[in-house]
Amino acid sequence: MPEGPRIAFLKEQLDPFVGQTLVEAQGTAKNIPFALLPEQTLIEIKTFGKELLLCFPDFALRIHLMFFGKYAINAELNRELQLGLMFETGVVNFYACDCRYIPEPLDQLYDWTTDVLHPAFDQDKALEQLQRKPDQLICDAIQDQTILAGVGNGIKNEVLFRTQLHPLSTVGAIPEIKLKNLIRTCVAFSHEYLSWKQEGANTNNWLVYQRNTCPRDLVPLRKEKLGKTKRSCYYCEMCQELYSSAF
Ligand SMILES: [Zn+2]
Repeated sequence: MPEGPRIAFLKEQLDPFVGQTLVEAQGTAKNIPFALLPEQTLIEIKTFGKELLLCFPDFALRIHLMFFGKYAINAELNRELQLGLMFETGVVNFYACDCRYIPEPLDQLYDWTTDVLHPAFDQDKALEQLQRKPDQLICDAIQDQTILAGVGNGIKNEVLFRTQLHPLSTVGAIPEIKLKNLIRTCVAFSHEYLSWKQEGANTNNWLVYQRNTCPRDLVPLRKEKLGKTKRSCYYCEMCQELYSSAF
């Protein structure tokens, strides 16, 4: 699933269409009023976590690439087209994604202070929200999109490794200074990940995600589906400390 930085990078690729008028819109996405779209002008593109928001004067189109979503700019893929938007100078096509029509003002729906890549991201609020559920495992809590929007499975693994936290640590048992560092690292690493995309790096620079060996200890990493979310965790038992509540 594309995480926040990949969606922020997609926004940058689509920014040249801002100010342009839609010539045609097509696709099989349900709940999109295709007949309304021609002649609408794209006035802004926003992102919230893993969501792309194409803003028109009276509504927005929200695109979530989910697990297998794809997009093509000035190109077509050989699969069912969910949403194809033809602008004056080019076209963007979305596949296998979730598309929604949003008539409400976005500020009513989105709390931008919870998006780790947003300038308004509020680290103190994220800390408060994490601490409100002390029994949660950190590997679940860090992917809560209402607290740290944009953090997905890859970022989770990298950030837990960098901050030397075991994924099965319970939030309430982790010292506050470590939680603060974890939140700061989510922000810093997300920006770093975005810069890799901007630099066009083909090989990613993950230290542990989808890797076999701990770069600190040179021992095999554990790979397990952990937590309520049962998402893959890559971690090192030697250098990632387990903070566990005594029950
Ligand atoms: Zn290690």
